[in-house]
Amino acid sequence: MSFLVILEQRQGAVKKASVDVWHTVQHMVEVLGKTDVYGLVMGDVDKNVIRSRCGGKGRIYMLNDAAFHDYCPECYAGAIVEMAGHTNAENIFFANTAMGKDLAPRIAMRLDAALASDCVIGLDGNGLLKAVTTMYAGTVSAVVENLKKRAVYTVAPRSYSFEGLGENDVEILEGKGECLSKSNSVLKGVIYNKGRKDITESDILVAGGRGVGSSENFALLESLATSLGGVVGASRSAVDEGWRPHSDQIGQTGRSVAPRLYIACGISGAPQHLAGIAGAETVIAINRDREAPIFKVADYGIVGDITEVVPLLERAVCDF
Ligand code: FAD
Repeated sequence: MSFLVILEQRQGAVKKASVDVWHTVQHMVEVLGKTDVYGLVMGDVDKNVIRSRCGGKGRIYMLNDAAFHDYCPECYAGAIVEMAGHTNAENIFFANTAMGKDLAPRIAMRLDAALASDCVIGLDGNGLLKAVTTMYAGTVSAVVENLKKRAVYTVAPRSYSFEGLGENDVEILEGKGECLSKSNSVLKGVIYNKGRKDITESDILVAGGRGVGSSENFALLESLATSLGGVVGASRSAVDEGWRPHSDQIGQTGRSVAPRLYIACGISGAPQHLAGIAGAETVIAINRDREAPIFKVADYGIVGDITEVVPLLERAVCDF
């Protein structure tokens, strides 16, 4: 088996979602032993940033050309197809981000490869790649069978660190690529929420639901998140109430997140919300209803009123 992971870059930073995919693949390689692993970064990223974020083994190619600074579907697709040929990669992985979802079908079509979207990947009992995709807000799972020589996957967010992967033996090679696109160019880049960390990029999320009660009460969550070095997210109800912007919404019609720690405050745990946090490593739920479904998926539960529990939690964090 050979793997190619597309590492996504924005403004010179490698996106957490694609770093998580790289490490998911690295954990498979640990089990498989001799397997060829390649990464591809397009755009201007500091080599040391890649080295500090991507552990394990393999070779990461960097295409530093200015043409790749902004996302351009045609030139990115051209470079990926070329890299797939160069590395002879049988399995090509994208994070299930907007860019990944846009590129993966283009690549699959050009390489005559199978396509599977929003998958959890791992190995089956025979050491073969297993991809499981979910439907209906995570209530139905399907194992994807690849009947082609090659396959392209978009991978659902899962929190993975490179702890336990041993020495960082990744080789980073710089190359040049060329944008061959004549029909696409970026007119204007817009950065939303400038200065605020994106909820999909944070390792710690403090999310609030209808139980928070008001937009003012979200200040309690902001304060806890700041003490923990995290950011605030929201359920759809909190967004519908106008307490938070839609970019903070987590779930089926919001965003999927994979933090190492997710603290759900006043969130009941509807399937549509849980669909967005399947990749979270540790879940803490605070809810005054001990029967709330969120407690079924939580690693730790606190039954209580968020206006009392959240400040206590923050004080404990600060005293730590
Ligand atoms: P509620 O269900 O009203 O729960 C509030 C919780 O807060 C309760 O458990 C209550 O016990 C607790 N509570 C109240 N007061 C306090 C207090 N003072 N202290 C502690 N606890 C308190 N939802 C999403 O979140 N994301 C999505 O992307 C999404 N997409 C959807 C797509 C579709 C097609 C549909 C049909 C629904 C979708 N929903 C989504 C909505 C989802 O079904 C739920 O309605 C929503 O998640 C409920 O949000 P909530 O948990 O904040 O509110």
